[in-house]
Amino acid sequence: MDRCSFCGRTKKETGLLIAGVSGHICDLCIEQASDIIKSEKKNKDTFDVNRASLPKPAEIKKFLDLYVIGQEEAKKVISVSVYNHYKRLSQKGKGDEVEIEKSNIILVGETGTGKTLLARTIAKKLHVPFTIVDATVLTEAGYVGEDVESILTRLLQVADYNVKSAQRGIVFIDEIDKIARKSDNPSITRDVSGEGVQQGLLKLLEGSVVNVPPQGGRKHPEQRLIAVDTTDILFICGGAFDGIERKIGHRLNTKVVGFSASLDHEHIDRHNLLQYIAPQDLKSYGMIPEIVGRLPMLSYLMPLDRDALRRILTEPKNSITRQYSKLFEMDHIELSFQDTALDYIVDKAIEFRVGARGLRAICEAVMIDPMFELPSQKETKLVITKEFVAKKIDVANVKKIRSAG
Ligand code: ADP
Repeated sequence: MDRCSFCGRTKKETGLLIAGVSGHICDLCIEQASDIIKSEKKNKDTFDVNRASLPKPAEIKKFLDLYVIGQEEAKKVISVSVYNHYKRLSQKGKGDEVEIEKSNIILVGETGTGKTLLARTIAKKLHVPFTIVDATVLTEAGYVGEDVESILTRLLQVADYNVKSAQRGIVFIDEIDKIARKSDNPSITRDVSGEGVQQGLLKLLEGSVVNVPPQGGRKHPEQRLIAVDTTDILFICGGAFDGIERKIGHRLNTKVVGFSASLDHEHIDRHNLLQYIAPQDLKSYGMIPEIVGRLPMLSYLMPLDRDALRRILTEPKNSITRQYSKLFEMDHIELSFQDTALDYIVDKAIEFRVGARGLRAICEAVMIDPMFELPSQKETKLVITKEFVAKKIDVANVKKIRSAG
């Protein structure tokens, strides 16, 4: 009688028995084997810091180049600090005397310049759990809002509650500037909420064991908590820090006038003060010194100019135009954009002051009708011209595009 060579079940006891060269396998064993393969694969996918193939900074940057246009300085800083971070992990437990400190990152730049995109792309490269949290929803314990620990809830969730894996993840904290103290001098107008949240956050950035509510929200006494060690979690913070140029300018001026002869007044590029950003500017903006100290890698992102916006439309590996082409390709329709059409889209993004985020909104307004109509027509080619774009933007809800920026 034929039996499964793995579990010994007879043909009757299984749904299906498949014959091999010198044995059989049943459907139940196939399913079980498939589960084993999946879980093995998952374990392998989780980043192994001891792996010799830890990507080098130049390699990391090259990968970022595929998705993020410009922002060379920020890309370099991120590549190096991520590389060092994981080198640090691989050094752990080896009893080295020189202990490498964690290199959390802070990125300063206008909204829509690619801060989140950079963090998201780096996580993709490293295959580690990654989450984005918004600092504005955080409040000090005891107030309405979310406890600081809830940041880690999301990380646990994306790591499928695998604590070990979450402990090596990356957290992007957006709008960090919104928890800045409103005044430089804590004794005058003390913004308790901002400072309290910063204190809470400090605990996570420094590296400590934190009790995390697995479902998020507020902690309550009966809740089961999961202990997460944040020592090896890389934090990338991002913020627009509106008006920080003034603080930078002020610092540069006093320095030049005061005592430093080495920093030549003439050579300061007044139109782009952000490139001179230094930790003390973050302090003057209202970040507590301890937080600034825990974010040693500081970099900036430039506002996107016309050229950058134009490149964003077509160059990134998953650029907006490529995504549309792919969608149409699935319906066997060849889509192309005339250069003048793309230029026009960029012109409109600049006119409406909506930046990179607005590019998508404009394209959506342009593409919605063809996406609706073409799949049920016989057309196999679609060329988007400037006239077509102009027509669609005229009738499109300009307000909607504006709100996307
Ligand atoms: P931020 O976090 O700085 O507010 P995002 O990274 O969320 O901005 O950018 C919003 C969107 O704009 C991104 O999803 C991406 O499509 C596009 N974008 C912004 N900056 C760039 C860039 N430098 N290169 C490519 N795309 C960009």
